[in-house]
Amino acid sequence: MKAEIVATGTELLLGETLNTSAHYLTGKLSSLGIEVDYHTTVGDNSGRLEQVLRQAIGRSDLLVTTGGLGPTADDLTKELVAKVLDLKMELDEFSLEQVKQFFGRRRAPMPSGNEKQAYFPKDSKILPNPIGTAPGAIIEKNGKTVIILPGPPFEMRPMFDNYAWSELQQIIGPQAIRMNERVLKVFGIGESAIEEVLGELMSLQNVTMALLAKRAEMHIRLVARSSEETSGEAKETLNWAEEEIRRRLGDKVFGRDQETMVGIVGENLKKKHWSISTAESCSGGLLGAALTQEPGSSEFYLGGVVSYSNSLKQGLIGVSHQSLESFGAVSEEVAKEMAEGIRSKAGTDLAISTTGIAGPGGGTDEKPVGLVYIGLASPEGIHAKKFQFYGERESVRQLTVQAALNEVRLHMLKNERRLQLGDG
Ligand code: AMP
Ligand code: MG
Repeated sequence: MKAEIVATGTELLLGETLNTSAHYLTGKLSSLGIEVDYHTTVGDNSGRLEQVLRQAIGRSDLLVTTGGLGPTADDLTKELVAKVLDLKMELDEFSLEQVKQFFGRRRAPMPSGNEKQAYFPKDSKILPNPIGTAPGAIIEKNGKTVIILPGPPFEMRPMFDNYAWSELQQIIGPQAIRMNERVLKVFGIGESAIEEVLGELMSLQNVTMALLAKRAEMHIRLVARSSEETSGEAKETLNWAEEEIRRRLGDKVFGRDQETMVGIVGENLKKKHWSISTAESCSGGLLGAALTQEPGSSEFYLGGVVSYSNSLKQGLIGVSHQSLESFGAVSEEVAKEMAEGIRSKAGTDLAISTTGIAGPGGGTDEKPVGLVYIGLASPEGIHAKKFQFYGERESVRQLTVQAALNEVRLHMLKNERRLQLGDG
């Protein structure tokens, strides 16, 4: 089944309102196995809306519209759907009663325009609107289905979920395809390198893979289609694909689905009963903010310092004047001294530090914008790693946080492996 979504409303074209409904409905339709081929946004203009509706009904099996169900003259959707499908508009007495009651409850007279909200293309199935005055409708004609929904998202969503969803399930029948989805989250390798490593996996028949670049991580989205009965098989396929990807990408895969880098780091620290502290320069407190994102973070995060200036690096955490002089604030040595300094001050098991050039200014040939050192101090010793990030200031800062968290994650993985080998 091929679907498309038409959002109406001039406010969407003016950039006043974000078309969140297209996003919401596409997610819902996809999970029903219905492919959405087009999103169209059109203003409250009868000529253009009619043209868009005609094209949509011509090329798709299912058309979902949002907006244009209001009482005013520029609310045109139902009337134009009727015109395009060559159906008469008919009064629905029950809906009229509902609209009247809506105003009755508010002790207000019904404006004459609201009567139009009770008119629908002939043979419509009415979708009730318990929140507002505009009911929606489902119309089936010549193998095509049109679902008409109101504009306000807080009316559209419950109407779709409570009424349209079950109707759609019936229309697509028990053979309906399910999209079984899994997302693997990756850090420390770029899009094209992942593609190379995954190679032939990227073009498998029974599971489709897509790479999505996020600001500070990559997502590999796996989708296996199935029917209701074969969803078990699809899960097996996803398990197999996940295992194969993890085998190829190793520690670069840090999580899946709802898991986040900071969530995983926090959970592992809690499990180990390890504490951590931070000394931040270029991340300016973002690392501390990330570590305190989840409730319960006080179990592992003791706190840290944002030592942006050289004087605070020296004064608060004891970075040596000599290292700052001879290597500069953005250097492996200073990153190590920052981590070591905060670890001994805070008395934590681990400590992590960041120092780098977030840009856009401040870069040199030797130390370009995006150069970041991340230090990690632990009972096993102190080390610092050099990173070269690209992008604007905000990206460099976010990548710094993600890389710092990832260093903690990798350290814990190494520690676990050592314990398993029995020499820990
Ligand atoms: P309408 O049903 O066309 O009168 O829409 C009423 C209100 O719903 C608009 O003023 C918008 O604020 C909101 N709205 C309409 N369409 C959308 C959409 N696609 N996404 C988000 N909000 C919308
Ligand atoms: Mg509108």
